[in-house]
Amino acid sequence: MGLFKKIKEALAKRKTTQQEKYVSGLDKSRKNFVDKLARLKGKYKTGNDEYFDELLQILIESDVGVATAMSIVEATQAEVAVSKVKEIEQINEILVDKMFVSYTSDDILSSEIEFKHDLTVLLIVGVNGVGKTTSIAKLCNRYKKEHKKVLLAAADTFRAGAIDQLKIWAERVGVDIVTGKENSDPSSVIYDALKKAKNEKYDLLICDTAGRVQTKQNLMDELAKMNRIIYKELQRQADEVLLVIDATTGQNGVLQAKAFFEATSVSGIILTKMDSTSKGGIILAIKDELKIPVKFICFGEKLDDIEEFDLEQYLYGLTKGLGDE
Ligand code: GDP
Ligand code: MG
Repeated sequence: MGLFKKIKEALAKRKTTQQEKYVSGLDKSRKNFVDKLARLKGKYKTGNDEYFDELLQILIESDVGVATAMSIVEATQAEVAVSKVKEIEQINEILVDKMFVSYTSDDILSSEIEFKHDLTVLLIVGVNGVGKTTSIAKLCNRYKKEHKKVLLAAADTFRAGAIDQLKIWAERVGVDIVTGKENSDPSSVIYDALKKAKNEKYDLLICDTAGRVQTKQNLMDELAKMNRIIYKELQRQADEVLLVIDATTGQNGVLQAKAFFEATSVSGIILTKMDSTSKGGIILAIKDELKIPVKFICFGEKLDDIEEFDLEQYLYGLTKGLGDE
């Protein structure tokens, strides 16, 4: 039996709220993916070349990314040849196993945010509308529940409403916030927040930033300035720079991410709006093309619609019911 199939059977036996979130959050993606694979089962009696071409197409349509999709299908084909498996149902299972193996092959499995210092600083970056502010609210809520003293820095000072939006979340969650005036220098907000966080012994400072990417130079300059201020105050970089990617933007989101990589070091991804996409394969593309871990995955607009990324739960959510028809 394949590696992931064993994991899947074990997961099916121990249902958790985390699992429920993954399963319901991936509803659209699962429907799409499982339906398409089931259709192949009806169409082909055996795994011939046309079948594998369609398999490749299904992966690409799920935003897995062309190169990654090809390597997964090739690995599936190779195993099918060696094991002499003929049933489409079994081949589909080998495919899921290869997706699992593909993700684990680079050893970039996600780790939780570590609180190694008195004050942990997170910088949240990403283009407008991807879900930065909402994700920050979710993180605040999560760490507040863990009894961390959390401070927010509203360093997206460019967009009308952005500061107020974060203020409203801060109030709702019950955490403190440092703001500046609209159009003020975002770095000065971060500076003020760092001072307050150190003086008043906060455990965690989360900095919202503007998603202006009109010019790459502008983005680089702004992030460089923030990084300089953080370094000056902490004598180290921000503990995490988390790039937010909107799952519904697919390959575009992956491309945007590369622009950010040129501007700053990024330690992890927050992948949002997984509930809104039917192409949940983007996680595999992110891993292959960006080589940094997805740390959090978001399944909706509510405060608790965030989970740490868990590869097993993700693949379980994406493929639950496959082969049950
Ligand atoms: P920002 O510009 O990057 O700060 O993005 P916002 O946090 O303001 O979010 C933009 C929109 O995306 C808002 O309408 C959010 O409610 C919505 N949003 C954020 N995260 C999610 C998610 O995980 N699922 C869904 N369905 N919507 C989300
Ligand atoms: Mg925002």
